[in-house]
Amino acid sequence: MNLSNIIKDKKTGDPILHDLRELRLKYELPVGRVSRFFQGLEEGKILATRCRKCGARYFPPQSWCSECGSQEVEWFEPDPHGYLSTFTVINVKPKSFNTFKDYVVGIAELPKDELKVLAWVMEEPSKIRVGAKVRVGVVKREDGLSYGIFPED
Ligand SMILES: [Zn+2]
Repeated sequence: MNLSNIIKDKKTGDPILHDLRELRLKYELPVGRVSRFFQGLEEGKILATRCRKCGARYFPPQSWCSECGSQEVEWFEPDPHGYLSTFTVINVKPKSFNTFKDYVVGIAELPKDELKVLAWVMEEPSKIRVGAKVRVGVVKREDGLSYGIFPED
């Protein structure tokens, strides 16, 4: 702490510490009901959930059905092949991503299972076209496994 960083609160006049530094965040999320998804990534599979009552399908997977309220959902492996319906190049990044080069986020439509997957597109922006054939697959990142949209052809 440095005394020059002590300023007065505008409302109360109380001294407050004003500082700017990098923060590392540690967070914990309850994933018990969707942990099968992370197992799937380890197995090289992208898994989704489907409602046993009404058939609604979810990606990212949900442990309950927001269509009918049922908690009877089952895991399935959707056909990962589809096409890119839209994309955008991210060059103004959130702080936690500012060490990344510009990247592309898009939506892959998987027509066989009527799913839409929002994810990073693993291709140079100049080579990406709307309507291109793509596949959703596992991505290895520094912080673990995730999923992304890969070009096919
Ligand atoms: Zn349902």
